[in-house]
Amino acid sequence: MPARASLASVSPPTKPAGRGDVALAAPDPRALLRWYDRHRRELPWRAAPGTRQDSYRVFLSEIMLQQTTVVTVRPYYAAFLARWPTVAALAAAKLEEVLSAWAGLGYYARARNLHACARAVADAHGGVFPDTEAGLLALPGIGPYTAAAIASIAHERRAAPVDGNWERVVARLFAVEEALPKARKRLRALAETLLPDARFGDFAQAMMDLGATVCTPRKPACILCPWRGSCVAQAQGNPEAYPVKAAKAARPTRRGVAFLAVRADGAVLVRSRPEKGLLGGMSEVPSTPWLEGEPADPAAHAPLAAPWQALNGTVGHVFSHFALELTVWRARVAAGTPAPAGHRWVKREGFEAEAFPSVMVKVLEYID
Ligand code: SF4
Repeated sequence: MPARASLASVSPPTKPAGRGDVALAAPDPRALLRWYDRHRRELPWRAAPGTRQDSYRVFLSEIMLQQTTVVTVRPYYAAFLARWPTVAALAAAKLEEVLSAWAGLGYYARARNLHACARAVADAHGGVFPDTEAGLLALPGIGPYTAAAIASIAHERRAAPVDGNWERVVARLFAVEEALPKARKRLRALAETLLPDARFGDFAQAMMDLGATVCTPRKPACILCPWRGSCVAQAQGNPEAYPVKAAKAARPTRRGVAFLAVRADGAVLVRSRPEKGLLGGMSEVPSTPWLEGEPADPAAHAPLAAPWQALNGTVGHVFSHFALELTVWRARVAAGTPAPAGHRWVKREGFEAEAFPSVMVKVLEYID
């Protein structure tokens, strides 16, 4: 729970307008747009002032930016655009190529969705994205946030792409005390009350920029904020208390053994993960199932009979719902060893073409 307002007169945010009875002006969207005109961030996926961005570029950047930082996304965005400059080009790519180019960005379901969506746009819409939120929402892999982002930024539709930045700004402006994730519906409703009458794309991006550069999670720079005179949390003196978040459940640790079979010619035994589920369709070194507790009888899961040797140390990786600890067992086998069903040998020069997730890249460091 946030510290209660030092202003005794601030009412709980359960009131319809959510602004209590502090005498504050309503946030004026034009003030934010004026601020944006002076302080907008220059980003590779952002159109020049006064122009509209292409749907494909908005789509590509927004899918990449989900749960990833701008700094991480920049090189991936440039590489994808250079390799697949249009949605039709991306649709024509093989899924494995897209997954491989995505490696390192994490949350691979996004890469599969990106590809599935590009195919749907190419096949069912002649390579042109729908220009309404509803039309965009009907595409595979496009949720409410991405639909609203493309609709507002590429098509100037009245839409609110409410991301974490929007949520933080709105929660503070209105001092919403309901905790996330339950508060999401209320924050969205309040966000829609802020929308201007025009310049919807700029407004969407202005909210993202305000949240990223001024109304930051820690130490928001309220003195620089165009809405400081309208913000209940700022008036209360406790903006960092918002948004209120429900306590997180502890993240469990799963363990497993990865079997690193290295042939005499340097090739490594790999397989593809099932299309659905965690790291779906990606390449991996075979392993035991990843379960809580110590792996029972790991040898029973070895892909082939070989002189397996357990190596020192573990490979760690943190996924959204669990932490993983893999012990690596390595075996060196003869050059003519055949690959068991569902597996293949891949030489080092072939690694680039494989879609190895970060955790498997760490396992492969144990080859030598
Ligand atoms: S005044 Fe401060 S807390 Fe309120 S929206 Fe602006 S930066 Fe955020």
